[in-house]
Amino acid sequence: AELELSKSGWLLDITKLKLGENIGEGEFGAVYEGVYMDQRVAVKTIKCDVTAQAFLQETTVMTKLQHKNLVRLLGVILHKGLHIVTELMTKGNLVNFLRTRGRSVINSVQLLRFALDVCEGMEYLEAKRLVHRDLAARNVLVSDDSLAKISDFGLTKVDPKVSDNAKLPVKWTAPEALKKEKFSTKSDVWSYGVLLWEIFSYGRQPYPKMSLKEVKERVEGGYRMEAPDDCPSVVYSLMKMCWEQEPRRRPAFHKLREKLEREIGKRSPD
Ligand code: ADP
Repeated sequence: AELELSKSGWLLDITKLKLGENIGEGEFGAVYEGVYMDQRVAVKTIKCDVTAQAFLQETTVMTKLQHKNLVRLLGVILHKGLHIVTELMTKGNLVNFLRTRGRSVINSVQLLRFALDVCEGMEYLEAKRLVHRDLAARNVLVSDDSLAKISDFGLTKVDPKVSDNAKLPVKWTAPEALKKEKFSTKSDVWSYGVLLWEIFSYGRQPYPKMSLKEVKERVEGGYRMEAPDDCPSVVYSLMKMCWEQEPRRRPAFHKLREKLEREIGKRSPD
């Protein structure tokens, strides 16, 4: 993997990187702000060598993906483990963005735009037959110009949260994925429904006050979350379509995109 990356130009030069402040904590190490050549970047450090090797494999997948709603990879640096260099998303993750600003600052059209951004990114992954497995608002980042972009795609196979059954993000994972490890674009669609709920509740924790065990049991029995306060009925009906028990009955991302575009068009005619 290392050789392939260096030949293709994805191996970056550490002397061209200026590291700045710590801006977050990842599962395997800190995330820093920085400047590479003249561009502002985020640098995710992975210290453990074994994990670094696995991530290196997966970044090879990331190099082949480019879309306005996926956080763009600039390359990697091999130095004391692995540094993954991506574009800097100055407004941080979507959960914090929504929580800190709230209803008084963010209107429903902006919420719909975030929903559409993520949907378009997922439509692209769907077309490439890539399953994310860990789609959630915490894995969506917000750019300087307030576009939402999906992060951590292509890395999900090495993420213990998703490859170790005991660590699955239960509240976001489709029933068939929890029970039989049947991950698919349709299980991503389920997670997207939960993400819609997070967006329209301004960053609340899904299934408030329910334990993971309770969520597993009740969802299997047909229970679904209520609509967030003031959620447009069109959006709530999309959520419920994403939460069909039967994966085949859930809509494809391109269908969801069409419906969101129509709704935005109605609310902000241009
Ligand atoms: P992990 O997936 O290992 O938990 P993340 O990739 O989610 O780690 O990074 C942790 C935090 O660091 C994020 O929630 C976010 O606040 C920040 N972060 C990660 N990548 C970027 C980026 N490209 N731009 C800005 N902030 C980032």
